[in-house]
Amino acid sequence: MPMSAQFVSYVTGLRCVNCGALYAPEKVAYTCPACGPDEGILDVLYDMDRVGRDLALSDLLDGPQNHWRYGPLLPVSAHHIGKTWPIGWTPLVEAAPLARAVGVKRLRLKDDGRNNSGSFKDRASSVGVVRAAEVGAAAIACASTGNAAVSLAACAAMASMPAYIFVSRRIPEGKLAQLLIYGATVFRVNGTYDDAYRLCAAACDRFGWYNRNCAYNPYLVEGKKTGGLEIAEQCLADPPDWVVMSVGDGCSIAGVAKGLRQMHELGLIDWTTRLLGVQAAGVAPVQAAFETGALGRADGDTFADSINCPVPRNWRKAVNAVRDAEGAFVSVSDDEIRAAMRDTGRLAGIFAEPAAATSIAGVAAAVRAGIIAPKASVVAYVTGNGLKDIKAAIECTAGPIDISPDLDAVAVAVERNA
Ligand SMILES: *Cc1c(COP(=O)(O)O)cnc(C)c1O
Repeated sequence: MPMSAQFVSYVTGLRCVNCGALYAPEKVAYTCPACGPDEGILDVLYDMDRVGRDLALSDLLDGPQNHWRYGPLLPVSAHHIGKTWPIGWTPLVEAAPLARAVGVKRLRLKDDGRNNSGSFKDRASSVGVVRAAEVGAAAIACASTGNAAVSLAACAAMASMPAYIFVSRRIPEGKLAQLLIYGATVFRVNGTYDDAYRLCAAACDRFGWYNRNCAYNPYLVEGKKTGGLEIAEQCLADPPDWVVMSVGDGCSIAGVAKGLRQMHELGLIDWTTRLLGVQAAGVAPVQAAFETGALGRADGDTFADSINCPVPRNWRKAVNAVRDAEGAFVSVSDDEIRAAMRDTGRLAGIFAEPAAATSIAGVAAAVRAGIIAPKASVVAYVTGNGLKDIKAAIECTAGPIDISPDLDAVAVAVERNA
């Protein structure tokens, strides 16, 4: 059976981001055969005229309250598989006190911690699992620093498909618990993320599993695009000056950029916005690539596990997306990320995991550097829920106040903390 048997007709082809070669969707599985799996990342192309005729704002208003509302802009046709999955259409939360703390006029938080498995990655995994079902794969696999695997395990469970997950030893316990409870087979690789990534790709080759690795798989980034489609729709008459995202491999910011761009191409929005990519100072090779044109060496470290990617797989797409959006990159220290976790919880009531709070730390850093103007209106993406790594969270607070069961002791403590 050709891979295109049930393929949705809005997709016209796949283009290599490295050499520009164009392929019919049924001719290639994941990457450009000429450039190879490391350089030959493919981009999915659509017949935008036809999408434009079939996707009107009035339809969107009546659309499902999840990311399948953008069906014609997604590279799958079997939406019925995941129709009720609680993924996407996450709220945009007004955060005035946090805006004052980071130094901008207006700040809205796109809270993807509320997705089914608690992160932005659900947008990609859901498309991956539906796509795997469409091409008749018996199982699906991925290597991940955590959330991609967690969301894949959850979506695979919802689709009744086996999932094989390769994680590195450093995965936080909350994420490991999620993987195990969702019923995935979990291989904890004694090596780096890069080792896990290569092992997973080899295992997919050997056993015929569908490979969810995002940089590799051109369909996954299409799911991430829905984050940008949603920001465009939610800010229709009230556009932000900047959209801010944390960056690890670079797929997420590239996906969101593509979503914003397609909404503009379709004429559903008449504005564009600038993009800020934020990396952890210890592991910032994409920022280096943006500034120097060559991928930097990352030999530091960060506790923000979801963006701890020393060998980013999709840096070219991320660098191009930020450049096209007249954007910038900044990096922030682990202490700045800890402060942003506390501030986001305390001032906005949102519990962000370290990689998610990185975007908020990045807003503050960009204001200090004169990149974002104090009068700007900013949307910062909160990509993951803080409950995934409670150890990191508790460590960045002062902890509880130990006290005896005695009212006077409470009075003394209240006085001391006033
Ligand atoms: C994956 C992830 C990111 C970064 O996405 P990339 O595609 O790796 O750049 C940011 N935050 C969280 C919570 C993530 O899980």
